[in-house]
Amino acid sequence: MRAYFSLGSNQGDRAQYLTLGVHRVRGDDVHRVSRVYQTDPVGGVAQDDFWNLVLEVATPATPRDLLARIHDAEAAARRTREVRWGPRTLDVDILWIDGVTCDETDLTVPHPRMYQRRFVLAPLRELRPDLVSAQDLRRADGRVHLLGTLETLHYTERHPRGWNGEPL
Ligand code: ADP
Ligand code: MG
Repeated sequence: MRAYFSLGSNQGDRAQYLTLGVHRVRGDDVHRVSRVYQTDPVGGVAQDDFWNLVLEVATPATPRDLLARIHDAEAAARRTREVRWGPRTLDVDILWIDGVTCDETDLTVPHPRMYQRRFVLAPLRELRPDLVSAQDLRRADGRVHLLGTLETLHYTERHPRGWNGEPL
């Protein structure tokens, strides 16, 4: 069974938080990760952009197990955050689980708002083009900008002006 997660971070070392989230959520399962998309901030409040990706995990875990994993991932990020950063270091949502629907107060799958959000659909389409049509992507809200792979971004986040101080 394959499950899909949306991970987002807009505070602190975003690449580090996304990597932490990927590790916590995937556990020992076989997985794939989309590239990272930057989401324009809305509302004019001065804050960092969100970085978003989608994680695919092939797993025998139950939906409840997966919900526990995302809470574990968010708790791990929040512990760090309480010491140093503001809120929103890491948000993890379960988007889709093959063959599974779930409609409970604390767990709704597929995620009820996934088709409204371009920052969800753009990375999901990389992994599952059968789930997201070009029209779905056009209809969704928000502007996204492709940044690259998580590996590349680790460097960019640490060295925003390049290794010798030059703007990248
Ligand atoms: P949001 O993601 O809406 O900004 P939170 O991250 O605080 O808000 O999540 C609130 C609650 O939503 C979680 O504690 C969880 O129990 C519930 N929830 C329901 N469906 C899902 C889902 N598909 N993925 C993640 N959380 C979900
Ligand atoms: Mg959430």
